Amino acid sequence: MKIGLISDIHSNLAAFKAVLSDMPKVDGIICIGDLVGYGAEPNEVVKLARSKEVRAVMGNHDYAAVTKDVRGMNDRAATAALWTADVLSQENLDYLASLPHHLEFNVRGQRIYAVHGSPRDPLSEYVFPDFSNRDLAEVVREVEADVIVLGHTHIPMNRMVLGKAIINPGGVGQPRDRDPRASYAVLDLSREVKILFRRVEYDVEAAAEKIKAAGLPEELATRLFFGW
Ligand code: ZN
Repeated sequence: MKIGLISDIHSNLAAFKAVLSDMPKVDGIICIGDLVGYGAEPNEVVKLARSKEVRAVMGNHDYAAVTKDVRGMNDRAATAALWTADVLSQENLDYLASLPHHLEFNVRGQRIYAVHGSPRDPLSEYVFPDFSNRDLAEVVREVEADVIVLGHTHIPMNRMVLGKAIINPGGVGQPRDRDPRASYAVLDLSREVKILFRRVEYDVEAAAEKIKAAGLPEELATRLFFGW
């Protein structure tokens, strides 16, 4: 049993398509939030995710697009969120509004828990890979799961604390670990829990051009070339 893990697609259709075509055969895909925000193709990304029957949780940018509540966002993110809110179709807004704040399910006796930020702050808290074991333990202590999947930082992570695997597949549409390639992971629950991390080249130029053509802040295009 294999599950594709994707997160932080951020309206980057080229990166999303590249990840889907690179991904080995899986039994299902879950998205750990932020289908939209920053990038220029929110409707196309939501449509593709729905057509692939991706199970998604809500991210802070999905929330901002639905509510136009951009408190806590920097200017670039807020500008893009409000632009996204305006261009999304009503059907796609309704879909994003329907997303749960977290997902919990069982696969072959393994309990999986997915949330964009952290279990104690589903939309906003960043859990970085350089957290101490002690800090990570605080984050996941109350969660009864074997595998906890997080997003939001756009940085891949694979840690084990209190017997719980804590995984972040990194960012599909806006990686932030200085590697511009799209990032995703595959969770293999065949016997023991195994995790495969993948990086995929995609047409960054095309994504960047669309951001500029849409009149979105230019830094949102530039950063894609550098992975920050
Ligand atoms: Zn994000």
